[in-house]
Amino acid sequence: MKNKKFETEAIRTQTPHTQYNEHSTPIFMTSSFVFDDAEHARALFADEIQGNIYTRFSNPNNTEFIEKICKMEGAEDGFAVASGMSAVFTSMASFLKTGDHVLVSKSVFGSTIQILTNIFPRWGITHTFADISKPETWEGLIKENTKMIMVETPSNPALDLIDLEWLGKLAQKYNLLLDVDNCFATPYLQNPIKWGAHVVTHSATKYIDGQGRAIGGIIVGTKELIKEVRFFARHTGPALSPFNSWILSKSLETLALRMDRHCENALKLAQYLEKHSEVEWVKYPFLPSHPQFELAKKQMKAGGGIVTFLVKGGLERGRRFLNATEMASHSANLGDSRTIVTHSASTTHSKLSEEDRQSVGILPGLIRVSVGLEHIDDIIAEINQALLNSK
Ligand SMILES: *Cc1c(COP(=O)(O)O)cnc(C)c1O
Repeated sequence: MKNKKFETEAIRTQTPHTQYNEHSTPIFMTSSFVFDDAEHARALFADEIQGNIYTRFSNPNNTEFIEKICKMEGAEDGFAVASGMSAVFTSMASFLKTGDHVLVSKSVFGSTIQILTNIFPRWGITHTFADISKPETWEGLIKENTKMIMVETPSNPALDLIDLEWLGKLAQKYNLLLDVDNCFATPYLQNPIKWGAHVVTHSATKYIDGQGRAIGGIIVGTKELIKEVRFFARHTGPALSPFNSWILSKSLETLALRMDRHCENALKLAQYLEKHSEVEWVKYPFLPSHPQFELAKKQMKAGGGIVTFLVKGGLERGRRFLNATEMASHSANLGDSRTIVTHSASTTHSKLSEEDRQSVGILPGLIRVSVGLEHIDDIIAEINQALLNSK
C-alpha cells in the first residue's frame, strides 16, 4: 500500500511486531544485536544485507522514527541523532572539508552561528553571512569554493521567510548543496526537498516531540547523501537513544493534529494582538500584513505556532511583560503544548551585539510567543493581562 496520507503514515509506519504480537512498538533498549551465524555477521558488515548490528549504527526504534520523517519530508533516507544541533552539525560536517565555504543565512539558530564562526574555522572551513531580507545579494556572495547553502525559514524569532523555490534553483545553478533547518515549520507545514533542498534537518526537541520531554534530531535527504551522513555518524557517534526515538515516533502520530491546533491558536492570537493598543506590531506568516504573506501561502501549509510582536516601551517593558505572565511559561524552548514566552534580546540572542540583533530583526521590545495547545481564550486572556499589568 503506497501513497497513504500524511496522518496515516504518521500512525501506520511501524516496526514489524515481535513474537509477542504487541500492537504498539516497544522500546528496543539493547546496545547490540546477535548474529545468526558467521555468514550472517559477515554479510551485515559487508553491507550486503540490511540489519541491525549495534545501536550506534541503527536500532528498530530509530529506523521507525527515520522512516516516518522520510515519508513526511519526501526524503529517501535519514539518520537520527541526539539533538537538533547534532543534526545541523552532522549535516554540514559530513560534506565539508578544508577549503570549503558555506553561504549561510544570518538568521539561523545561535549554535549554528557558533559552529560556523568558532568551530569550522579550526578546520579551514569558511562562511559568509547572507541577509535574509536581501535575497538579491545572495548570488554575488557565492565564491569559487562555496560548497553549501544553509538556511532556516521561517527565521527565529523575526519570522522572515526565504523563497525555497528560488533558493533551490540558485543551489542547482552553482551545483551547491542546499541544507535547510526545517525545525520551525515541521514536515507537516513545509517540505524543502520539494523545492530543491538536498538535506533537511530537524530539532525533534521542538514540535516533533511537542510536549517538552525529549531532545533529539534528524537529518534526511537522498540515499546517496545520507550514505555520507551515515558513514560520518556511524564513526563519530551522535546516535539518538532508542528511548528518545520511541518517544519521538509516538509523538509523530499526533503531529498533524497538534500542528493544526498550534497554527489555529497562533493565527487567532496574532489577529488579536494586531488590534491591541499596547502592541506596536505583530508578525505571523499567515497574517495578510506579513510582508511575505504570499510566499508563506506558497511554501507553507499554515503559518506555524510562533508569533512575534513588539510591545510598546522597549527593553524594560519587554522584561516587565515577562514578569507579569502568570500561566505562560518563561522558557527558552519552543514547540511545546504549553504556551511559552521569550524575550529574545535579554535571553536567546543576548550574546549578539545590539547592531547584530537589529540586523536580524530583534528589537529590544520583541516578544516571541510559542503558542501552545491550551484553549485559545485562556491564551489570549493571559497575554492580555500581562500586557495590561506591565504598562
Ligand atoms: C532548537 C533549535 C535547534 C537546536 O536543537 P536542539 O535539539 O536544542 O539541539 C536548531 N535549529 C533550530 C531552528 C532550533 O529552533
